[in-house]
Amino acid sequence: MRIVGLRAFVVVLLLYGVGGYADSKFNWPQPDPPYEETDPFIDPVESDLGDEDTSLNKEPVLQPEGLEDVPLHELPLENDPLLRTPLEEQQEQEGILPDTLQQDEPLPDHPLEDLDNPLSKEIGEKKNEIASLEVGSILAYNSNTDHKAIFSTVVEEKHLQSWVVSANGLESNFPIQNLPYGVFTLADHFDEKHLGVAIGNQVTDLYRCVEAGLFQHLSSNVQEALKGESLNPLMRLGADAWHQVRATLISILRSDNSQLRDSETLRNFLLIPQSNIVLHLPFEVGDFTDFYTSINHATNVGKRFRPENPLLPNFKYLPVAYHGRASSVVVSGTAIRRPMGQVKKKDSDQPEFLPTSMLDYEMELGAVIGVGNSLGDRIQMKDVSRHLFGLVIINDWSARDVQKWEYQPLGPFNGKNFATSVSPWVVTMEALEPYRVPGPLRNEGEPDTIAYLKPDKDIGFDITVEVLLTSKKMRDEGVEPILVSRGNFDSMYWTIAQMMVHHTSTGANLRAGDLLGSGTISGVDECARGCLLELVEPGSEGLLLPDGTRRTYLEDGDEVILKAYSYREGLPRIGFGECCGVVTEVVEFDK
Ligand code: MN
Repeated sequence: MRIVGLRAFVVVLLLYGVGGYADSKFNWPQPDPPYEETDPFIDPVESDLGDEDTSLNKEPVLQPEGLEDVPLHELPLENDPLLRTPLEEQQEQEGILPDTLQQDEPLPDHPLEDLDNPLSKEIGEKKNEIASLEVGSILAYNSNTDHKAIFSTVVEEKHLQSWVVSANGLESNFPIQNLPYGVFTLADHFDEKHLGVAIGNQVTDLYRCVEAGLFQHLSSNVQEALKGESLNPLMRLGADAWHQVRATLISILRSDNSQLRDSETLRNFLLIPQSNIVLHLPFEVGDFTDFYTSINHATNVGKRFRPENPLLPNFKYLPVAYHGRASSVVVSGTAIRRPMGQVKKKDSDQPEFLPTSMLDYEMELGAVIGVGNSLGDRIQMKDVSRHLFGLVIINDWSARDVQKWEYQPLGPFNGKNFATSVSPWVVTMEALEPYRVPGPLRNEGEPDTIAYLKPDKDIGFDITVEVLLTSKKMRDEGVEPILVSRGNFDSMYWTIAQMMVHHTSTGANLRAGDLLGSGTISGVDECARGCLLELVEPGSEGLLLPDGTRRTYLEDGDEVILKAYSYREGLPRIGFGECCGVVTEVVEFDK
């Protein structure tokens, strides 16, 4: 079936991705209204941001003591780095970094715990220069009033290139316009986590950026947050702080800023090849709520569980959800152990306690809450952007046989509480602004949305989502993963903004680090179904894998790889990276 024509399917869809959206309706984002002084959501840091910056008068963070023992690099400052040798030109075309940033270059001699060591006189000299020149000029933006400035920056950003050559071009998930946040350790230093931002095939170490004085112009709150071990402190600071950090990073990394581009010492200190890091859960997950907002998914799944009554009457009035389990949210790459559970077989009157034989994935996106609301307050549609930090990919692993037996009357429990995987990079809403689309879509004759859930602007997002699968045998034989579905987030019946507004409509409080899953993202098309429960027709033999085996549900050793990205002609590609997990065998205690 579709697997046979998969290659053609991929090609057609890629072509569609390049050309198909060019004519679709596209609106530039509208500026938010300016903050009002009485607004309860104004973040405490805001007053710091507008004040005179006193941090420039502080003692330099890096003491020059002992520098006489550090060999100084003679930097080719007079050379124009844009004049490349033929070899460099070829490397650039191949998306490889300039010579000085090759991945096989030995790691900088600064393990994370040696941050107090003096680096070089150069860093001491450069940091004030950088803070006062490029960064300062970009950040002339006034945080209190000028929201238009944010969005004009967004518009200008779309043509920017980075001096990190691997970030440029359509193959890169992480161009300078993306800058997603993660938490990492160096592969050989597991003890100290740093915040990082992906750029091309590198990660920018935010802890070291602060140490080098690159964020001196921002408040001490922001600098402290950037030296944290999770994103939560930064997320709590609010949208102005998020914007200023992003603007600073763009300023540092853009190709026409020579400050870092021409300094091998600074580059080696601040950038680390992604191949040399281990990524961790990027934020401390507060509460996890999983929604059910794709009408195609709800209808397809409803048909399986309740053929006579697939779509329940509440679906078109509110975004349906259940409260999930935060403790078992794990980062991509974590092995997923096949769970045990109560299963009632078709031909049996009694349930049995068995390993699930219907293990499934669910392709979802997750909203990461940055600024919460107080208990008793509600988040309104117009304020969503001040609370929502970014998005991740979610795999909501599901044991369908367990789910089917347990789910009535209170919803999923053990069928889904054993593991939920998230991608390691959080893509910010600012990076996704150019990909806003009208939404949610309603056909004629559908119920009118109740006022509190009505959008005040385009709140959907054009994000392509893909599911790939490999078996252990395929990996052993070096066979590439196969694409089993491709959908788009713009097809959801309810949007993230509506999920947040409905969630807090009772006065329930969201907090920094709360995770809101979208529910499985499924389109109308058969190839756009985001889980095996929908993809594999009951009674069919299942998906045919390249190793000759078939799948109705996941087998031990299978790896599920979820990908997501936004791309449209004339705009940079905003990639989410991957959310992966390998299924491992069950542990049966009683045998
Ligand atoms: Mn789900």
